[in-house]
Amino acid sequence: MSELFSLTGRRVWVAGERGMVGRAIVRRLASERCEIVTAAARVDLRDQAATFAWMAANPADLIFLAAAKVGGISANDRLPAEFLYDNMMIEANVIEGARRTGAAKLLFLGSSCIYPKHAEQPMREDALLTGVLEPTNQWYAIAKIAGIMLAQSYRRQYGCDYISAQPTNLYGPFDNFDLQGSHVLPALIRKAHEARLANAMTLPVWGSGAPLREFLHVDDLADALVFLAKHYSGEEIVNVGSGEEISIGDLARMVGDIVGFRGDTVFDTSKPDGTMRKLVDTGKLNGLGWNAHRPLQEGIADTYRWLLDNSDTLRTGPATA
Ligand code: GDP
Repeated sequence: MSELFSLTGRRVWVAGERGMVGRAIVRRLASERCEIVTAAARVDLRDQAATFAWMAANPADLIFLAAAKVGGISANDRLPAEFLYDNMMIEANVIEGARRTGAAKLLFLGSSCIYPKHAEQPMREDALLTGVLEPTNQWYAIAKIAGIMLAQSYRRQYGCDYISAQPTNLYGPFDNFDLQGSHVLPALIRKAHEARLANAMTLPVWGSGAPLREFLHVDDLADALVFLAKHYSGEEIVNVGSGEEISIGDLARMVGDIVGFRGDTVFDTSKPDGTMRKLVDTGKLNGLGWNAHRPLQEGIADTYRWLLDNSDTLRTGPATA
């Protein structure tokens, strides 16, 4: 397939290179003949002057905007101001910085939570801004919608080739395993692991277990993003998903089996379910020529192996929730 944008010899900056997504993009770029621009010291991307200065000194041809304040259902609820302010500042600074420093292309990472709570499932890209948002993550969603529209507005007003991808729920190495802030999959892996070690009989699961979620391994996401950088240019957003949907209850049992936990799952219905279904329609991305590769079971086993090899990760954050 012919490329719209070649990475060969280009300078590429992954904003958010220390996060789960950023690290996966950097791993994926190792097989491309591009030069990766990295920040030697931590740049606070919420700080406009610091961000502009760093970008001017380190101009890139292609920017993956994967830096964000992220978190699960509980963190969103507790930190609404940070989810909105931090993300809006990061997006505005990096996107304007990209224009000022003449980046040829930018890929902005949105999220599947940008879609309305009652959007028809699977959620197509044109469902954006057609209804009210899921209240448990509306702060994050509004910031991500602002980022998408910023990219679109820069394309319209300045002719910048900025595109946006909307990933479904992600997981993989370097995920956040802190139970107060994490998403469901790393939380369940940690809880099942600790329950097995403690010979506990129960695995506590938040909510009713009925909500359906789709999960994508972060290495699949990184592959899709590099594919989009090469092959896609347009104002319309593009979903990235696996098409593999599972209930939270079944997910907890699957994680328990993989981890070797032998007890029962118990549901804490005092915790919120959030939206009951969140599956993205990937027809557009599949039509462009990309499909997800890694089955969920294999991806969870891989993530658990990573956790066992990086058990320091479990020293941070409270062990119960
Ligand atoms: P969401 O996809 O934005 O709702 O974010 P999460 O990944 O945090 O939650 C997904 C679903 O998993 C929700 O229905 C949660 O209530 C449920 N869930 C079950 N156990 C846990 C847990 O230990 N942590 C989290 N974050 N979610 C859990």
